[in-house]
Amino acid sequence: MSERYSKLFALSENLYSAGAPVVIAAGALQKDNQTGKVFAQLKIRNIQDKVIKAATVKITPFDTVGKPLGGTVDYQYLDLSAGRDTDFGQKTPVMLKKAAMRSFTVSVSEVIFSDNSIWTASNEAWEPLSAPIAPEKKFTDGELAKQYRAKYGADCKCIFKKEKDLWRCACGAINHDGERNCHSCQREAAALAALNMDELKADRDKRLAAEQAKKTKKIAMIAAPIVVVAIVAAVLISNFVKAQQEEAARLEAYNAAVALVEAGQYDEAIAAFTELGNYKDSAEQINETTYNQAVTLLESENYDEAISIFTKLGNYKDSVNQVEHAINLQTEAALLNDYRIAIDLLNTEPGTKEYYEAVAESRQLLVSLNGYRDSNELLQNFYTDIICALASNPKDNRYYQYDDEGKIIYDGVYTYSYHEDGTVDTFTSRPITYKVVSYDSEGRMLRAEADSMSAYYTYIYDENLGYGWYLDDENLDNNDLENANSYQYSYTQNGYYCNSYIIEMGWNLYAKNQDYYGATEIVFEDESKMTVYFSDSVKDYLNDREAISAIEELIYSLKNTDISPAIEMPLIISITPVVADDIPVLTEQYFQKEDLIRFSALFSVLDETAQKDYYKKAYDADKIALFSTIIPDMDTNLVLQYVDKSEQDNKTNFFAVLSNYMPLSDLKRYVEKYYENNNIARFTILLDCMTREEKQEWLKRAQTDRKTNFVAVLSNELLD
Ligand SMILES: [Zn+2]
Repeated sequence: MSERYSKLFALSENLYSAGAPVVIAAGALQKDNQTGKVFAQLKIRNIQDKVIKAATVKITPFDTVGKPLGGTVDYQYLDLSAGRDTDFGQKTPVMLKKAAMRSFTVSVSEVIFSDNSIWTASNEAWEPLSAPIAPEKKFTDGELAKQYRAKYGADCKCIFKKEKDLWRCACGAINHDGERNCHSCQREAAALAALNMDELKADRDKRLAAEQAKKTKKIAMIAAPIVVVAIVAAVLISNFVKAQQEEAARLEAYNAAVALVEAGQYDEAIAAFTELGNYKDSAEQINETTYNQAVTLLESENYDEAISIFTKLGNYKDSVNQVEHAINLQTEAALLNDYRIAIDLLNTEPGTKEYYEAVAESRQLLVSLNGYRDSNELLQNFYTDIICALASNPKDNRYYQYDDEGKIIYDGVYTYSYHEDGTVDTFTSRPITYKVVSYDSEGRMLRAEADSMSAYYTYIYDENLGYGWYLDDENLDNNDLENANSYQYSYTQNGYYCNSYIIEMGWNLYAKNQDYYGATEIVFEDESKMTVYFSDSVKDYLNDREAISAIEELIYSLKNTDISPAIEMPLIISITPVVADDIPVLTEQYFQKEDLIRFSALFSVLDETAQKDYYKKAYDADKIALFSTIIPDMDTNLVLQYVDKSEQDNKTNFFAVLSNYMPLSDLKRYVEKYYENNNIARFTILLDCMTREEKQEWLKRAQTDRKTNFVAVLSNELLD
């Protein structure tokens, strides 16, 4: 096998965060040496009783010196059916866009169970659990390890260990604190935890003494008859006869061992030859039998065992080559297995809901097969465009793929309905339905709008577009796509900190959807009332007086600013209780995790120095999304400083965002400068901040000055 992949990085084993339903058993970053692409491979293990049907992981990429590459990648494993102690994810490559990525950190952010209940990660770090320790390793005295097994059972793999909210049983299984007995072997935690070393040592000594006494007795019993036989033999039979008898017995034993080989009872044969010591070619027979045993194991596809035995045989015969051969066969068998699954999936009845899921899964498998058999040819039948769908809420941005009928695959959230020509008509995830309102020439979606006016997706067919970009709908035309720097970046801030809570709130809820949510009526200081809706994940707070009063205070204060649109039907999306002393630490965590909502909420209560530090950190690290969420808090002088800085540093995206917050007089100064310098790109960015009248004046001026490129841009702007 050629070296198609190289492993760039491996995670510590068994990462765990207290309270999580899973451990990340293993993980690696792989590089495809043919395409240069990198992907992560994770093995995740269910460690509790509920069956898992989906799980989302969050990957933070780092470059070769461990510097964050910016952003995080969310990946959702779907259509699982993983019971306790079952692994998933190990066969699913998580393709990553950043080719410079050389390591990563990962956490599991959400797990959905088969009963549709959801576990959401807290802020607890994911850290490796300590490795299981075998009794032999724990007790340097082998007899003590033996005593441990005598006490707790011969199948003990390791020493009992309590860690975080888990305990590892002597059988190796992971259990939760709430479980009194091991879920796998039923051993009692209390009994394992109560190990008393003095007692164990005393038991060991008692056992050794008893064994010694037994041995002495046996020797004594054997010794007595030998004396008798020796006397009789000396008198009755010659040494020659005795030797002949012994030889006959050994020959019989040897022939019996050969018969065992022929019967395929290799273990028994090896034991018999070992007993025979130097007799005839017994030593050679042991090697030969061991070799034949490995060959048989290989033929019956027991690859691991065969490889282990051939490896032990060292240079005997062609064992070295056999190891390589067995590894190749094993790899081939794994590939063939995946290939067969992929083909089976493709044979799913077209048109059914299962079909799209099956096609998506098949495609993933075919990609992972990397040219095995005709997998690459089969992949030609799929559309491989990766589409970045840009949602009105950047958190919902997602990637799609289309199948060869032009239908969307690779999406476990929405249910799609199609027109007769195969193009998407609508997609639904209760309670919201999106209607596709425009398509490109290939029938792919360009824009879809929710029945509530506030939410929409626009679609970009460009593999190189970075994750997390969000376009104003008016900027989505082909000219803009060719010049990524001209994108207007914007973000709707809807996270607030109020009375020890971070409250994520959206407004206004579409009236038709209000039945789907929990609701409560709040009463403001001025006695006016409003109904507040609660999403599923926060419905426990409906009866939480403190949280409700924080929400009352928040909405009341927002209502008294001229916030637009006016708050009428607010929907509470998430609530995070925060201890005041933790704010600096949490702010930094949210910054690192690029949790825009929570970061910006806490940022607003930091002191000025801390705020300035974060502006600098976000700017230096090119974290445009984080930077955008906190500009509204920036004072004018600082805005102007950063405008100059982003101009010098040629950070066009920062410049574009900052220009929205420039005082009018300064804005005019910059427009004037770019006009004079014929910098049409910068001039165009600033057009967004101008009124229609101002644009008309500029058009006149450009016509007079015969600056045709400016005339073109301005007349185009004024057309709408
Ligand atoms: Zn156990």
